Amino acid sequence: MAVQECLVLIKPDGLVKSLTGFILTELAETKLKIIGAKVVSVSKELAELHYAELKQNKPHIFENVLKYIQGEYHTNRVLALIYHGEDAIQKIRDIAGKTNPEEADPTTIRGKFGRIHSKTGVMENVMHASDSEANAKREIQLWFSPDEITEKIYPTKKEKITEEKNVWANNSL
Ligand code: ADP
Repeated sequence: MAVQECLVLIKPDGLVKSLTGFILTELAETKLKIIGAKVVSVSKELAELHYAELKQNKPHIFENVLKYIQGEYHTNRVLALIYHGEDAIQKIRDIAGKTNPEEADPTTIRGKFGRIHSKTGVMENVMHASDSEANAKREIQLWFSPDEITEKIYPTKKEKITEEKNVWANNSL
């Protein structure tokens, strides 16, 4: 067994169905460690990069999946988490279940709460979990910067970045 990371996304349908607490409780059974967490409003650019493989493999559904993850059908929020520990990918994917909620074991998250939307054809399957170490690395580096993670899981380098950022207008500290 290898120590791995796995990116978990609680997708917009998971958030509107108030499934966050349930999913976190199920995932806590794995005894894996959360080393990063944030709520994200997903941009088109991030959605396209995250689902780059889907563009090649399933082009017929790509545009609607982009809309789904950006929140066009539910809410424009996704909860992104990084889990870290032994065999993280398999443990989490076992709890998530198969991509197609109709094929997923009914005891899994996707089997319990997912659906295929009759109009869009999108498999609204509540959560995402990385499916390999290589994809976990790619996805984690897409969704998180090194300073947002509590463990040093991949090599980093120092770079001076000057960009405009929003800051608090009335910070009294
Ligand atoms: P997974 O999320 O299980 O790794 P994929 O990377 O193949 O699966 O697909 C990404 C997401 O796109 C799925 O989670 C699902 O929401 C949607 N999706 C994938 N394949 C289909 C399909 N054939 N029809 C509708 N939606 C799909």
